[in-house]
Amino acid sequence: MNQSEIRNSPPASILVLAANTDRWFSSPEAYAELLYLEGINDVETAYLDALTPAMLEGRSLVLLGAADPEPEVVQWLIDFAYHGGGLICCAPGEALAAALGLAPLNQGVMHGRLPVALAGFPEAGLPLKGWIQHYSGAENEDHTDTIPLHDFDGRPTGHPAVIELAEGNGVIIVLAYDPAQCVYLLRQGNPLLAGCRSSGFERMRPSDLFEGWQDERTADWPTADLHGHFLRELIHRVWPEDTVLPWLWYFPDRADTVLIFTSDDDWSTRVHFEQLIEACETYDARLTFYLVQKDSVMDRAWLEDLECRGFDFSVHPDLPPPSLSLWDRTLNDHIQQFRDAYGQPPSPSVRNHCITWSGYIEGARIEARHGFTFDTNCFSLLPQGRYYMNGAGLPMKFADLTGDVLPVYQLPTQFSDETTLGGQGFGWSLNLTPDEGVELITGLLQRNAGQTASMMCVNAHPVSFATYSAPLWTPVIQFAQAHSIPVCDVERFSRFWQARRAVRLQPVPKDTMPDFSHLNLAEQGLSVMLPAARTDAGTRMVCGRPYVMV
Ligand SMILES: [Zn+2]
Repeated sequence: MNQSEIRNSPPASILVLAANTDRWFSSPEAYAELLYLEGINDVETAYLDALTPAMLEGRSLVLLGAADPEPEVVQWLIDFAYHGGGLICCAPGEALAAALGLAPLNQGVMHGRLPVALAGFPEAGLPLKGWIQHYSGAENEDHTDTIPLHDFDGRPTGHPAVIELAEGNGVIIVLAYDPAQCVYLLRQGNPLLAGCRSSGFERMRPSDLFEGWQDERTADWPTADLHGHFLRELIHRVWPEDTVLPWLWYFPDRADTVLIFTSDDDWSTRVHFEQLIEACETYDARLTFYLVQKDSVMDRAWLEDLECRGFDFSVHPDLPPPSLSLWDRTLNDHIQQFRDAYGQPPSPSVRNHCITWSGYIEGARIEARHGFTFDTNCFSLLPQGRYYMNGAGLPMKFADLTGDVLPVYQLPTQFSDETTLGGQGFGWSLNLTPDEGVELITGLLQRNAGQTASMMCVNAHPVSFATYSAPLWTPVIQFAQAHSIPVCDVERFSRFWQARRAVRLQPVPKDTMPDFSHLNLAEQGLSVMLPAARTDAGTRMVCGRPYVMV
């Protein structure tokens, strides 16, 4: 796109606004990440104090982060909705709530539960992290729909979590919670535990951030991903009548889900590697090997041959304490060793030996400085976390407490040999038999392939596969192949995921079939989801809404 095309292109249909404040995770970019996760990229961002009426012209939707804007701005936003625009307000302040006809009760609750009655969502409701405001909408005769707020134990609080209001030709949805805070807290853990040790194991790991944090009742659900899906569903509900918003499907080549497969070297022998590679090639699976710096059996000729066969390779830094002070230098040395040994840089993802971590997201910041774009260190580990410890399967960028979004995607890893199977004497293991593990993991694959629309990443060390975990992983990849679920390496998926983020789909007139052929989407494995007027044989249901997949 050249400069004149940029000037002539219409404004993005969605404007994301946030207050310029020190509220955690409150930046317009941090909120916008929730939309990018959903394949919605026709988005521009701004701080509220830079807003002018002209910036609202030509928009279909405004997503307003937690804020209490000045009266003039509130009037612009209400006028925008009155004339047919969609408006979503997150945790509005006292003045804004009053202007919307809601009574702010100036109280609330820390953590709660959102009962979303949609296909693909857990019956127990989605856990809400962070503070949830109480509002009274009872006297407001414009309110058309409400979802109640439940407390963490699932009891109704008597207050709403979501309120839908009619405003002239438009619709306003008020969320009593902050979806950005909620998603980052679910995914990244408790910021009060940044740099703290809670697991009892040597070396800090991401699980140290999850002491007393994971929701037991929805541990086997990707709840942070579902918060994103629910927000997209709300966007469709407030969207103006005359157009629909297309979005990009989550998985490559129209797949229902994917399984990302990885393998930490951990000084496995050549025979160990060969057994895992043979199983992968038998069932059309590929994976990313994270190679150790010292004494890996992998040599250059073998790596180049395996690369041609679809395998992916990166580094596996060993960071014993003091981990943070040595991290930068160790990673630098390891990258240099990889280049010297294999004649190429490591691929864009990284996992540390013993999944060593530091701070809150400080490790991701270091990895970013060295050019990595995907981190696979967020491993579900007992006793702090099981199954979806990070509440997520889909990759999403890390964000710090100021709302600064890092250029590194968090790709959580749900299952590994030693965290899943019994008999290895590890306190962090689920201690399952191979059959129990196969039932659990294939069950979650099936759920992800349905309306839950999420994914998983797993890890099989070559040495573990060769000695005890083949009875788990072989049936899992066999199942995936039989159900057309791609099992792929991180690099291949990362290329798809970054391509998905780079495509900006604009709203299309209702009941038309737009032509996206100029975007060459299929070449990149991308598919468009176009909201459909009715359900029929050609539509796909997501969050209970029918879509045509283009
Ligand atoms: Zn390791």
